[in-house]
Amino acid sequence: MNDSPLIAIVGSGPIGAAFARTILETSATARVLMLEAGPQVTTPAGSSVRNIADADEKARAREMSQGPQAGAFRESLGIPAGAVVEGMFTARQGTHLLDFGGEGSAHAPTFPAAAAATNVGGQGAHWTCAIPRPAFSEKLPFVDEAEWEQLISTAEGLLHHQSAAFAASPVGAAIRSLLEGEFGAELPDGYGVSTLPVAGDPQPDGSMLWAGADTVLGPLLDEASELASRFELRDLSLVRRITHAEGRVTGLEVEDLRTRTLSTIAADAVVVAADAFRSPQLLWASGIRPAALGRYLTEHHVVISTVALDPDRMGALVTDAELEVELERRALNPADPVAAVNRIPFSEPDHPFSLQVMYAENPPFPLDPAHPLAGNRWGYVNMGYGVRKHPRVDDGVSFSEDELDYRGLPNMTIEYALTEVEESEIAAATERLKRAGAALGSFVAEPRLLPNGSSLHYMGTMRAGVDSETSVADPYSRVWGFENLIVGGNGLIPTANTMNPTLMSVAIAVRAARALSERISGTR
Ligand code: FAD
Repeated sequence: MNDSPLIAIVGSGPIGAAFARTILETSATARVLMLEAGPQVTTPAGSSVRNIADADEKARAREMSQGPQAGAFRESLGIPAGAVVEGMFTARQGTHLLDFGGEGSAHAPTFPAAAAATNVGGQGAHWTCAIPRPAFSEKLPFVDEAEWEQLISTAEGLLHHQSAAFAASPVGAAIRSLLEGEFGAELPDGYGVSTLPVAGDPQPDGSMLWAGADTVLGPLLDEASELASRFELRDLSLVRRITHAEGRVTGLEVEDLRTRTLSTIAADAVVVAADAFRSPQLLWASGIRPAALGRYLTEHHVVISTVALDPDRMGALVTDAELEVELERRALNPADPVAAVNRIPFSEPDHPFSLQVMYAENPPFPLDPAHPLAGNRWGYVNMGYGVRKHPRVDDGVSFSEDELDYRGLPNMTIEYALTEVEESEIAAATERLKRAGAALGSFVAEPRLLPNGSSLHYMGTMRAGVDSETSVADPYSRVWGFENLIVGGNGLIPTANTMNPTLMSVAIAVRAARALSERISGTR
């Protein structure tokens, strides 16, 4: 490599950010160029849209992230309005469905809720910031315990991990106490009811400044830092192709979406962290097609419900005065509806699920004021069980030789099916959700299974492993057969998971980035 090697990173989400930060901190000479297809929608770059207090500004930042469904802001994504047809419907705010139904839409009838975000910070500008650790068989089988502990702790540091966010909330504590009463005796030590670890910084008023890619980039965004002088982030830069020859990548073909001009950028190594569908798409478009590319797609299925907290049961644990203080604290920050977050983590063999319990003053949907549970002074919990998908080669995304998507890249078709194993675990989780709801209050929305793809946590499509036939990348995230092409993101996760995967993917990225720096410096 040359004296000041250039590492090009495709994608500016938390994983691209983890690569950039780790490479620059561990290599004194490397430079990093980060290329992002979407626009910058927040300041600092990549920061969470959830931190925006002004409702109109927040809505605008979300719309600008919605790719082909960007409405008035479509041109800001470099998508000419005529390139997509009307009649599309949108996914969760800030994201866009892959199978949006318009021209150039992906085909995903069995995975209809698959969605992405296209903006600086990626989905990490819109995420809920839950960062539980993977446990038991969720973890990587090829990294030993001591190294894993170090990697996951580093990832928690990068994301500003808080293990006890909202722990002072008396309502949150009462929710834990009621869940503990219902489930405590069945759960193993260390895996009982607890606060959900989240990424962000608690503020003096009791609210959270939620983490985004900016948090992970840290000093790279600080002009006073030497690291910033070796870092460049370009938005509205769509990478169309990875150029390569004889097992080495040589650079990237990039379209400037402002001017629609194409250019070639030479790079000493390339990191593709462009999400679990668009990363394999870019590899495939570039003629890089390992057998496992796009296959073994998993997510965790979500069985969800909303419950109005029971005034009598809550009142027995929280005084009226405490509730008043809590409501006053909440009133200080009406833009952020989450007031406490609890969970029951995955454990084996008897609890192969993750329960996430979000407390808020209002339900996450408009509730008819005439509804008997409307206006509940004790508030509501929106809670759901994550249920794992066991990896199968049959589930995955394939790419068309001749049909292009709205960006002009090979169009995607997603194939996905639940087997009897998943059906039975979903049924068991639904029973548990009914018990959790009965313990806490009354259902405003009964337990229901969300459509496939709703988790937004897509894994397995670029799995890391030790076998080049059943994985895309080696244990250090290098694409098999390439010495300087690295992949990152949830697509690397090869196991069956029930938890929010970003923390795990950051840990995997840290391992890969350190190995890359060692190769740059010649110590590996
Ligand atoms: P992304 O954040 O998706 O970023 C990829 C970026 O690559 C995008 O900005 C995209 O525009 C860009 N890109 C794609 N193709 C190209 C190209 N060809 N050229 C240039 N750029 C390209 N995870 C959790 O762990 N906990 C949670 O609580 C949680 N909650 C979520 C809630 C919501 C509403 C959403 C939307 C997501 C949530 N997630 C959560 C998922 C989490 O945001 C993702 O796991 C995380 O953002 C993945 O990071 P990434 O960098 O791999 O990909």
